[in-house]
Amino acid sequence: MNVNKVMVIGAGQMGAGIAQVFAQSRFRVLLHDINEEALTKGIHSITKQLNRGVEKGKIDVQQKEHTLANLSTTTSLQDAKDCDLVVEAVVEDMGIKRRVFEQLDQYTPQHTILASNTSSLPITEIAAVTNRPEQVIGMHFMNPVPVMKLVEIIRGLATTDETYNTIEAITKTLNKTPVEVNDFPGFVSNRVLMPMINEAIYTVYEGVATPESVDEVMKLGMNHPMGPLTLADFIGLDTCLYIMEVLHEGFGDSKYRPCPLLRKYVKAGWLGRKTGRGFYVYHN
Ligand code: NAD
Repeated sequence: MNVNKVMVIGAGQMGAGIAQVFAQSRFRVLLHDINEEALTKGIHSITKQLNRGVEKGKIDVQQKEHTLANLSTTTSLQDAKDCDLVVEAVVEDMGIKRRVFEQLDQYTPQHTILASNTSSLPITEIAAVTNRPEQVIGMHFMNPVPVMKLVEIIRGLATTDETYNTIEAITKTLNKTPVEVNDFPGFVSNRVLMPMINEAIYTVYEGVATPESVDEVMKLGMNHPMGPLTLADFIGLDTCLYIMEVLHEGFGDSKYRPCPLLRKYVKAGWLGRKTGRGFYVYHN
């Protein structure tokens, strides 16, 4: 299938990155958010990333300008009417995602593929609210999107080979590496990563060590490039909590119960880097 125009929904840290990599690969991109301010911030962060790319000699000024020219923004979901592919990256909340997909199913042409960047939610359940479950798929980018090579591609129960093959080919066009996985809570990446982060939070909660010490042990002892609590702050503690809840509910196994300290931080609005405070304090 020929994909020319892509709508990316949600202009947060993931949506902005996804919009950037599509626009850099010459797709026309419409970035949508319900919040005008999020769109302004999203375009600002893309411009900053591209300027950094020019400074480092990774792209030239012309590539930067072409990328920005391929991007436009909208607060109206109905503008998806001429898009061939939609990649949804709104908050990790099944109710919100279901509503978005229900609307997309009405607004987009029949051929449009509807992809979700969900970190953990069942693609099959999201697909079930549409009349085209065979064209619904998971396209799970990693953070930060312009840097990370992996895209986990998740087949829902009804996803066809045609849809899978189109998304796999597009992923390669974006200069990313697709890995195929089936639809189970957390897929592969977050089923393995998130319990480790949750356990790291338990060690702080139980007074075993400070966040700095936990991170140092995992960096120096296990050769992780970033400690799990630094990573949790980077991902967003709200997103970490949503994912643990999906694993807990999806498998019905108490080993996935979210640490009470994680819940407490989220309730306090300490969501990590994006709010300036999580396990660490950020001044910028
Ligand atoms: P974020 O909080 O940075 O951004 C979410 C954006 O969605 C906000 O700008 C918000 O205004 C917008 N939004 C909320 N409801 C909306 C709606 N109904 N329609 C349009 N826009 C809406 O979140 P994020 O970290 O970018 O995460 C987005 C998705 O990507 C989640 O599903 C998350 O699980 C997934 N994800 C996150 C990471 C990560 O490291 N943060 C990595 C991979 C995947």
